[in-house]
This record gives sequence, structure tokens and C-alpha cells, in this order.
Amino acid sequence: MELRKDGEIALWTALFEATWDGMVILRTDGSIYRANRSYADMLGYTPEEMGSLHVWDLDARFSSSELQNMLRDVDSAGAHFETQQRRKDGTIIDVELGNNGATYDGDKLIFCIVRDITARKATEEKLRQNEELLRGIASQVPGALYQYRIARDGEHSFPFFSEGIVELGGLPLEAISGPGEDPAMSRILAEDVERVEAQTQHSAATMANVHVEFRIRHGDGSIRWIECRSTPQKEADGGMLWTGILLDITQRRRAEERVKAMAITDGLTGITNRQELGRLLESEMRRAVRYASPLSLIMYDLDHFKSINDRFGHNAGDDVLKTVASLVNDSLRDSDMHGRWGGEEFMVLLPQTGLDAARKVAEKLRQGIASHRFERLGTITASFGVVELAGRESSRSLAQRVDDDLYRAKELGRNRVEAQPASLQH
Ligand code: GH3
Ligand code: MG
Ligand code: MG
Repeated sequence: MELRKDGEIALWTALFEATWDGMVILRTDGSIYRANRSYADMLGYTPEEMGSLHVWDLDARFSSSELQNMLRDVDSAGAHFETQQRRKDGTIIDVELGNNGATYDGDKLIFCIVRDITARKATEEKLRQNEELLRGIASQVPGALYQYRIARDGEHSFPFFSEGIVELGGLPLEAISGPGEDPAMSRILAEDVERVEAQTQHSAATMANVHVEFRIRHGDGSIRWIECRSTPQKEADGGMLWTGILLDITQRRRAEERVKAMAITDGLTGITNRQELGRLLESEMRRAVRYASPLSLIMYDLDHFKSINDRFGHNAGDDVLKTVASLVNDSLRDSDMHGRWGGEEFMVLLPQTGLDAARKVAEKLRQGIASHRFERLGTITASFGVVELAGRESSRSLAQRVDDDLYRAKELGRNRVEAQPASLQH
């Protein structure tokens, strides 16, 4: 179809008036040559009123001399920028403005498209404020906030860490954020990784919250205990996102470990105490029965200890107990368990050890004690009873038998080892 010249102008005029964008044509002196309805509406004027305005009546950011320079510099390449404009009622709106210059009938005109971006700006500002608020909160919370994602394709990553992670992990934020999970995950000690992964899988499968404690290697090289709590949520695209908190609980863990150690340690000698020795005996007996492996027990008691206290005082007696405990400790294997049964009576548990081997150990211990020269006191001896666990006998029976052996060692003159097979006892 052939478009007639005047028809074509009518078409462009219709487009000019119909578009939702504000359109305005300026003269180089800043006066308005023509504004469309959308632009007049945007500023709260009628199109006729617009005709008597200048660009400096409308712009609320640039001075008239700045605007004059801008008008002069507009060329056919155009420009694109944000500014603010004043509506007829005095309110200010944010606009995005694109312009370019062209010559029409020998005069230079400037064609502008103006878009009201006040709502977008407000949203952006709100978003910025929210982000600031979130960052503020995140920086006040102890520890670090984080997000962990397992995407639909199986890709693992940490989309978010709060600033607290820097102190918690001792690493710059850039080192652990970004794509992939490895920079952060690789800080977890190998022994603890499985526990963390098991928790994560369980949480993904059941939507249960994650609560796990694990150790990391801090940037300064030290080992830190971390408590992790997070909540899973399914993402629209099929991925899984956990949002949670990481806390450094190293101090608490140390305190707990100290309390636990104290609860199982004999205060005087520093070796295992009677309660713990009792538990160890029961669990070693169960293990021995389950795996049909031998287990032996040595009980020893210092000879004439009462007279040491009587002659040298109770403190000297205490020192002897400490020295004997450490002498014996030093000559045992790591797998053996040595504890104070009470007073000047001690017990040694020997897993994977039969009666003959245990008797030899007891003999070595006896000689070790007897050959030690105690300061001021000279030498001290001890008597030993040795038994091997027989079948499914009770710990009570085992303790009774070793006591009987020890009693016999005392009866037979002390400083000796008695080790009767179960079949010959009772
Ligand atoms: P025996 O050769 O028959 O074992 O003689 P003994 O003197 O060692 O035997 P008895 O069991 O009669 O005495 C043990 C003494 O050990 C009694 C107690 O004063 C002393 N004793 C027990 N516990 C401690 C302790 O913690 N510190 C000190 N210094 N002495 C203790
Ligand atoms: Mg004694
Ligand atoms: Mg005794």
C-alpha cells in the first residue's frame, strides 16, 4: 500500500500521541516545541500548557546553564541519563531520559523520550535499605549467617555468608564465597565431614532442621569447634536451600571436655578413676565376648603402705601413689587401661591378652616398682593378682577372682605375682 506524505505524518503523529512513554521535542533554546499527552500527564500539565514551558521549568536537578550546555551538545548520537523533574503541583519525579538531535526545516530540534522511574527508584531504595538492614542485623548476630544450596543439577554452593564468617573461619570473604562449595567445605576436618554430609542428606530427605557440631581448621591454623543450625527449604526450580547460623563453640567444647575429663580422672594420680574403670571393664568384657578375644585383668596393691604413711606422713604417701601410677603407666601399651581402684589399689585392663602374657606384664610391673628408688623412702613393693576372663562370667566374679589372687600374693609373702587359671579357682 502506498502511503501518502500527509498520511504518513498523520501516522507518526498518532504514534507520538498514543505511546505510553513521555515524548517531547525541544528547541535548542530550551523551549518546548511539542510534548505528547503521556508526557503532559506525567508532569500534570495539559499539552497546551506544556507549549509555554522551558526545559528549566521542568528539570529539578540541573541548573539552567548546565541544561543550556546539554542542549547545545546534543547530537545525532544522542545521550541517555537519569534526572529529576518537577510536576506542576511541585512534586518531584525521577525520570530516565533519552535524547538525540536532528535538523528539521533548517532548525535543530531535540527529540526526547522520558520515562517515569519514580516507582522503580523507590523499589530500588527500599531494596537497598532492606539489604542494609539485613547486613546490619547479620553483623550484630554472633557467629555467621549463611546459605547453602544444592541445585537441581547437584551443584553445591554457598550463595551467602555474613561478615562474621571472616572471624569465624579466619579467611577473607572472597576466599570462601563464590561458586562451588569446596573453599568453605574443605576447612572441615576430614573426620567430621561424613557427619556433616549425613546431616545434610537427612535434612534434604526429611526437611528436618540441621543441627551438627564439627571442627574446622581456622585460617590461623588452629582447630575450632563450630555449631551449625539451619533450616531447609525447597526452591521453585527443584533445588534445596539451607539458611542458618554458624557459631564458634570452641570455648564451650573445651569446658565440656575439661568437665568430662575430670569426671573420669582420679584427682591424685591423674589416671582413670574407679567409676570409669568399672565402665571400661564392663565394655571391654562385652567386646571380648562378642569377638571371642582374650581379656586379662591385673590388680595390684602396695605392700605395707600404712607404715609409709605412719613413718613419712600422708603427703609422702600421696607422692608414692603418684610415682607408682606414672611408673606403671609408662610401661603399659596404649591399648591397656590403668586406673586407681581405691586407696593404694590399682587395676590394669589388658584387652587381646591371655593369662600368660598378662602374668608377664604383671611381673614386669612388679620389678619396675620394686627397683625404683623413692626419695627418702628407699624402695617399695607391690603384690599382684592376675586373671583372664573366662567365658561369660560377670565382672563381679572376675573382680572377686583377681582379689583372691592378690590376697594369696600377700599371704605368700608380698612383692609377687599370683595368676591362677579360672579352672583352679573356687
Ligand atoms: P598390705 O601390704 O597388706 O597391703 O598393707 P597395707 O598397709 O598397704 O594395707 P592396708 O590396706 O591395711 O593399708 C592401706 C593404707 O593405705 C591405709 C591408708 O592409710 C593408706 N591410703 C589409702 N589411700 C591413701 C591415699 O590416698 N593417700 C595416702 N597417703 N594413703 C592412703
Ligand atoms: Mg596395701
Ligand atoms: Mg589395700
